[in-house]
Parts: sequence; structure tokens; C-alpha cells
Amino acid sequence: MSISGTHLLDERWQFSAEKKGLSISLCGLKNSCQIQHVAIATVLKHMKCFLKLHVCWNRFAVWCALLIVGLSCYQAASRPMGPWRDSPRNVILIIGDGMGLAQLSAAAYSQKRSMHWESMPVVGFIKTHAADNLITDSAAGATAFACGCKTYNNAIGMDSLGRACTNLFELLEQRGSCTGVIATAALTHATPAAFLAHQPHRTRYYAIAKDIVHSGVDFLVGGGLQYFTEREDGQNLKDSLRHQGVKVCTYEDGGLSWALMRKAHRFAWFAARNHPSAAELGRSYLASAVSLGARFLARCAGDRGFMLMVEGSQIDWGGHANDLHFILREIQDLDRAIGAALAFAQADGHTLVIVTADHETGGMSIPPPSRKRRIAEAFSTNSHTATMVPVFAYGPGAEQFGGIYDNTALQHKIAHLLGL
Ligand code: MG
Ligand code: ZN
Repeated sequence: MSISGTHLLDERWQFSAEKKGLSISLCGLKNSCQIQHVAIATVLKHMKCFLKLHVCWNRFAVWCALLIVGLSCYQAASRPMGPWRDSPRNVILIIGDGMGLAQLSAAAYSQKRSMHWESMPVVGFIKTHAADNLITDSAAGATAFACGCKTYNNAIGMDSLGRACTNLFELLEQRGSCTGVIATAALTHATPAAFLAHQPHRTRYYAIAKDIVHSGVDFLVGGGLQYFTEREDGQNLKDSLRHQGVKVCTYEDGGLSWALMRKAHRFAWFAARNHPSAAELGRSYLASAVSLGARFLARCAGDRGFMLMVEGSQIDWGGHANDLHFILREIQDLDRAIGAALAFAQADGHTLVIVTADHETGGMSIPPPSRKRRIAEAFSTNSHTATMVPVFAYGPGAEQFGGIYDNTALQHKIAHLLGL
């Protein structure tokens, strides 16, 4: 008889007990109750053997072994989240702009297979309000995620008193960790900008581009090339990045590939002059950018860790347009990127993946006569709303993200877990 416990790479637990063809395998917490029933049934069977006074030390050993397995099951089932024991080394924060619960529900009901975010074991809710408004915009929402402070709508990396606030990327760069941003809008747009810039108003795109050049960020993928190269001040910020040792490529150099970035220490790829096209019109770089970006940043950072912020920027634009088809295509595109992030995290074992939204857009609902794959959507506004948004987490530290909290607490939790 042998009993072995193996801690698998994917952080699930597997035990096996072998005796006379008896084999039990525990994969994941979902099965733990079922396994307990099997264990208890087998224990009872062997107790019967004792009652009949068949003293059988061999069976007694199996009984003890199953008792140990049963206790392990109980401990695993009573653990609030799971088998991750350490703090994360890396964080991948994925923001679906305007991605509320109705948008996610419609996406889940619109296709046969489960979406990647459905497999993430920890779920919470975020209160999204800004300092000066119950209904936030993306600038204040992303500043809350980046800096951990409530601020006024339109603020990019500034607190409610108009002072530049220190963001997670600056704290990470100070200690030699690596940082990256991927977006499906211009990199100067509010959500990516809040992680890279400090400007009093979100529309100061040329000033934001200059801040991005000075941010020290190691990996950039998104649109907005014109704000770097077609400037009133005559500066070519693409050249400024190159002088800093950043390998800068654009959509004219071809698609994203490892070959393009393999020899670079820092890397930027501009997907468009301004905003990249919609997923519906063929934009398809997001998931590969996440795979390549995580690989690039892991090599860049080593055990100093990295943080990658990924934005599905255009879900919000579908919400403003009250266009469910637009929303669904953008969420499906973001979900492929979530799958890429989870695959990296599962193989790596030290990466926390967080998926959330800055706010809901459109006041969307799914009223009758909606059916699976036939959503009869309704919208109550073409603006943002104040409804809470969901947050999903996977990986070391994930259990910190359950519950209901302010958007600012997301930054506090990440900073705490990364030791910042
Ligand atoms: Mg945005
Ligand atoms: Zn919006």
C-alpha cells in the first residue's frame, strides 16, 4: 500500500491511495465533498470488516490512510479560497472599460462554452464612485486603481486636490520591478494614461504622451502614435523612447511577435495612429499581446516581479452606443486575453490575475423575452452608471479580492500583496 501527496504545478492538490485497486484522485476543491463521501463510504465498509472480527491489519492501515485523506479533504473544503500559500510576485490587472454585470451576463448567455473569467475562483464587487460624482468616468476610475485615491472625473493620476498621486507603476519601477500596459484604445486615453501620467484633464493627450515617455514603463502595446510623432512642439517622442533604449515598432512593422521583441530590453508597439479598430473590424492583437507581454516582463523582472495592466477599452464604447453586438465582440476579445493571462499564471504559479471594470456603461439589463443566445437587451442611458462592478481573481493573494469594497481598495490590496 502506498499513499502519496503531490503538489502539482497548477496548484491543485492530488492524492492517491492504492489498495486492491482502490484509487482516489482529488483534483481541485470542487470535488472535495464528493471525495469525502467516497472516503466515508469506504471507511464504513472496512469498519464492518472489524465488527465481523476479521482482524486485518492490512485493512486497518487502509482505514487510517483514508481517515487522513478525509481530514485533508475537510481542511481543504474549510479553507476559504485555496491552495495558494504565498504572496504573488507578479500581477496582471485586466480592466474591461464599462464592463458591468449585465454585459458579462449577456456574454455568458450568448455562447455555448464557458468564458475564461467564469473559472476564476474568487469574486467580489467594487463601488466605483468618484470623489466629486456618484457616477465615475474612466479617468477617475483608473486613477483610483493606479493611485488608490478617489479623485474628480477627468483627472489623470491626480488626487482630488489636483496633486500628482504616486501610482503602483512608479512604486514598482523604484524597486526595479518591470511594468507594462496593453490597451485597445490610444495609450493616451484615460485608462492606460492613469497608470503612466499625471495631468489635470484627460483630454491633454500630447502632455500625457510626454509623461508616458518619462514613466519608465517597460512594455507598451496600444494606439495613439500621432500624439508621439505629430506634435505641435515638433518633438518626436518615438525617437525619445528609442534614445532611452526602448525598441519602438508600429503597425507598419507587421504584427506582434516574439521575434520582434526578443532582443529588446524595453518594448513598445503602436497599433494605430489614434484608436485601433474595433474587434468586429479585425483588431486581434489583445490576447497575443498579453501572452507576449507577460513573457517579456517575466524575463525583464526575474524575481523582482512585474505588473501588467490590460484594458479592453472599447466595451465602454459599445455601451455608449447601446450596441450589444459591439459589446459582445469586445468582451469575447477581452476574454481571450483573460485566457492568455490565466494560462501564463497557471504555468508560472507566482502570478495573480485580477479582472474587473472601472464602471458600468449604458445601464444595461436583460429583460424578457430574452433567451439563451437571443438576448433582448435594454439600456437606460448612453452614459456611465453607478452600479457596482464585479471583480474576479485567480492566483496567490486572490482570496483578498472577495467581498465588497471601493475601487481605491483594489490598489491598496495590490500594493500590500506586492510589498509596496
Ligand atoms: Mg478606458
Ligand atoms: Zn465611457
